[in-house]
Amino acid sequence: MKPHLQTVVAAPVTDALGRPLRDLRISVMETCNYRCPYCMPEGSLDEAALGARQRLDFADIAQIAKAFVAQGVRKIRLTGGEPLLRRNLPELIALLTQIDGLEDLALTTNGSLLAAQAASLRQAGLDRITVSVDALEDALFRRMSGGRGSLSQVLEGISAAERAGFSPIKINCVVQRGVNESQILPLFEFFRNRGHILRFIEYMDVGSCNGWRSADVVPAAEILARLQSAYELTPLAPTAAGEVAARYGVAGGGEVGFITSVSSPFCGDCNRARLSVDGKLFTCLFAGAGFDLKPHLRSPEKLASEIVALWRHRTDRYSEIRHAADVRKKIEMYFIGG
Ligand code: SAM
Ligand code: SF4
Ligand code: SF4
Repeated sequence: MKPHLQTVVAAPVTDALGRPLRDLRISVMETCNYRCPYCMPEGSLDEAALGARQRLDFADIAQIAKAFVAQGVRKIRLTGGEPLLRRNLPELIALLTQIDGLEDLALTTNGSLLAAQAASLRQAGLDRITVSVDALEDALFRRMSGGRGSLSQVLEGISAAERAGFSPIKINCVVQRGVNESQILPLFEFFRNRGHILRFIEYMDVGSCNGWRSADVVPAAEILARLQSAYELTPLAPTAAGEVAARYGVAGGGEVGFITSVSSPFCGDCNRARLSVDGKLFTCLFAGAGFDLKPHLRSPEKLASEIVALWRHRTDRYSEIRHAADVRKKIEMYFIGG
């Protein structure tokens, strides 16, 4: 641990609904080399793409992260867009690992560039990795990546992550009605056999560009029932407050998780802040706007007081009030990260 990034670890600041600030997601890249129709359909990025100069640099990200840790954050996840498109990402990881009080540093990636980067990410100090895989059939995988992805490349990336020492690896799968339900059992079997943890994510109405319809959501209960037709699953207790996945142990070994944001929202425990690539704090995945932290970068005191004030005023609980919520323009998922 390097002294210059040491910070005083305080009790977490709590929001207006009593929820502590514990988790920070940092988007390091708003662009992506995939065009998953549920996230960034072809054509949607044009209006959102930023120039490199609008992205926070690594020193600024580390400064903001340190300020968040001082207010209670214990876990940071790097995301995007596709985070592995950000050049020299291990340098940022090395900076973040120096923050006193940070307990867990993770990354979510589509895996396409992981084969070449897994070892350097690990060496820099990354603790955990999550890779998104929606299908195990080449053609379907490609379709779900907007015609851009290669399943074999992603599986090579996962193998490289295994060799680099990431274990277990989490695998995210978004299930869409009429698209990839056929993949539920094959994905589960494949990753269980490799000792990894699959998490099924309900298709969410994040952003505005994916044309979300409730009819396209496959509720977690239905996915669970499919798995239970072949396996004995037992609910597991949460390992930490604010854990988003409902976890199940599998008889004979293994674990599977469900992220039930649509069918069973978990806003009551949501301890998560999001930092966009251009330095805005979003207090909810479904927020219409963020709060710009960049003006406070030169004053650590002002940065800290802004974070505290913004979190104390937080009342977001979109998923619980989805049908009554009056959110006209929501930020896109790829802009603030899942
Ligand atoms: N590009 C990386 C990836 O795909 O893993 C990181 C960013 S991506 C926005 C993070 C996660 O959000 C991925 O697992 C992705 O499948 C998920 N995601 C994107 N859009 C979603 C949606 N509309 N509903 C549910 N999950 C979504
Ligand atoms: Fe890119 Fe990830 Fe969104 Fe797919 S889910 S378009 S890989 S950011
Ligand atoms: Fe948290 Fe907003 Fe999702 Fe609710 S809807 S769990 S407040 S990010």
